[in-house]
Formats: sequence, structure tokens, C-alpha cells
Amino acid sequence: MWQDLEVTLKKLDKKQLKQKPDQGNLGFGVHFTDHMFLMKWNREQGWHDAEICPFQDFNISPAAMVFHYGQAIFEGMKAYRGKDEQIFLFRPKDNFERMNSSAVRMCMPRLPVEKVFKGLKALLYLEREWIPSAPGATLYIRPTMVAMEPMLGLKPSGSYYFFIILSPVGAYYAEGFNPTKIYVSDKYARAVKGGVGEAKTAGNYAASLMASEEARNAGYTQVLWLDACEHKYIEEVGTSNIFFRINGELITPPLGGSILPGLSRDSVIKLAGQWGIPVVERRLTIDEVIAASRDNSLQEAFATGTAAVISPVGELSYKSETYLINEGKTGELARKFYDELQKIQFGEKEDSFNWSVRVC
Ligand SMILES: *Cc1c(COP(=O)(O)O)cnc(C)c1O
Repeated sequence: MWQDLEVTLKKLDKKQLKQKPDQGNLGFGVHFTDHMFLMKWNREQGWHDAEICPFQDFNISPAAMVFHYGQAIFEGMKAYRGKDEQIFLFRPKDNFERMNSSAVRMCMPRLPVEKVFKGLKALLYLEREWIPSAPGATLYIRPTMVAMEPMLGLKPSGSYYFFIILSPVGAYYAEGFNPTKIYVSDKYARAVKGGVGEAKTAGNYAASLMASEEARNAGYTQVLWLDACEHKYIEEVGTSNIFFRINGELITPPLGGSILPGLSRDSVIKLAGQWGIPVVERRLTIDEVIAASRDNSLQEAFATGTAAVISPVGELSYKSETYLINEGKTGELARKFYDELQKIQFGEKEDSFNWSVRVC
């Protein structure tokens, strides 16, 4: 059982290692490192066969339940290279705790957080040369769990794989910290209370694709999701949480089952609290945002998520009308949160919350 889970190391020879990609042109999620973490679960043994092994293809039955019923969950986090070869993670245990919440919702087994965290640290140490040093570039970390039992009856799978793969990614704002244009969808919904919107589970992202494609075809970067029942209340933007600053107050929708509890969201709320910026979690309608835009009390809007950290919103499109926010420019708070979080994440500044964790 996982109480005595040992991690086996199957390391490639030096000459088998891949050539590292050009750091100036990493893109997002296209390159993968030489090794990965893998462990398996079944009812008899619990978590077992934990190993750090070469990054490799799986041999999977076409009947594996993940293909049919979608028991698949993941996380997204990053390793940051600071000065003097120091490597940092940002709130890593919170990611694994959130993965456990997703696991419970999807009837999947919980992870032994401490063991997995140790496994991740060992993997990062082995792959440390892959962690980019170009400004703003990071090593994206993708922990994933999928149902492996070959069986077509609908029930929770009896076996699972958990793995962590690593991908060096370029700076998100290679061309500068530019505001995005977002499209308010009153046709599609991302998630509904009682559903799985608060779990980071694969199907949510499949469900979002069509609206994202339509937004993109109309010239917008992201979709702003409204609640599924009334198409009235603001929920999230793309795969990020959203904040509006209206009359000096920072407002974000409350977590209520259909919203993913973002760690970046939580970090912004806590920093705002520390800085004395009024911040409230409350339901906010799209009409209120439009009205605030019309009477100039809408000062700025930004999205939060691990990939971009902070993503300022410069324009909204709703019911064929467009609304400029802060004249289409990056807001003052968006920049302040972005700078502070980047400094904490890259270990340039100590944080009083102990969010940044040095791992090697
Ligand atoms: C991952 C995710 C977020 C952001 O979460 P972070 O922990 O801040 O990266 C927000 N919304 C959705 C739908 C997500 O999948």
C-alpha cells in the first residue's frame, strides 16, 4: 500500500537524452522532458509501482474506461528558475489537495500528497536542466490521473494511472503585457451547480471548445462564461477566474460549485487583503458590468490563472456590442498583482504566506 510506496528510478543514459529545444521559441506544451513520474492504483494494492521513468507512450486497451466515460483529472503548475540555480514551486501542495477534491468528485482514488510531492521534487531534480532560464519562461508541470480498467459497464474504474509530465514553456507575454478581448457567451455554458465545474476534469474543457472556437472566429481571445441557468451572472473567463474593479472595489464571483477554485484567484484575494484593497466575493451580473462600463465606474478587469498569472481584459463583446475597459489598456491593479506574483514565484521576493517553496 502507499504507506510504504517507494519510487523506483529508471533513468536514461546520457546519450539517450533529447536535445533541448531553443529557449527563444518554446511555445506552450509542445516539448516534453526526458522523464516522467508514474504510479498505478487498483483496489487490491492501492497506489503501487511508483517510478520515475523515461517519458514514453502507454499501451492502453481501447476499452479503457477513460476513453468512454471520461474519468480524467489534471492539474497545472510551474517550476520557476530563480537566481543561483534555485528552483521554486508556487503553492504545490494546494495543487495536489485540489486534485484530491477533483478525484473525490469523479469517484477516483485520492493521492498520497506527501509522497507525490516527494516524487515531483525528485523528478524536478533529475530534469533540472530542462527548467528554462529565459526571462519569464518556466517548466509547466502536468499531474494527471486517468481510468484504466478495460470495461464497458458504467461504474467507477477499478484501476488508474497517475502521472506527472513536464513541458518547458515560453514567457506568456512574449509580446508584452497586452489586454485581451473577450466574448461574453449567452448561448453556451461551461458548468452548472451540481455538475463538475469545480473539478479540473477533462470533459469540462471538451465542453468549452465550441464556444472558444466561435469566439476566436469572431476575433476574440477568450470566452466569458455566464451561469448556466439564467445566463446572467459572471462565472469565469476561458480557463481562468475573473476580477472586475468597480468604484475602487475588486469584485470576483464566489465559488459556488460551478467555478474552478483557482489558486491564482485565492492569491490575488489574499494579497488584496494584505494591501488594504477592498475585495469582495459576490455574485455579479453582466448587466451590472455593462452599466459600470457605461457610467465609467468600471476601472479595470483581469483574469487569473497559472498559465498567464494575470491577464488584463481590454474589451468585452456582449450581444453584438463592444465595451472598452480602461481604454483597452492594462489596469493598475492587474500590473501590481502580476509584478508581485511573478517576484514571489521566481523567488525574488519573500512572501508572508509561504507560497513559494524552494525545491532544488
Ligand atoms: C485551472 C483553472 C483555473 C485557474 O486555476 P489556477 O489554480 O489559478 O491555475 C480557473 N478556471 C478553470 C476552469 C481552470 O481549469
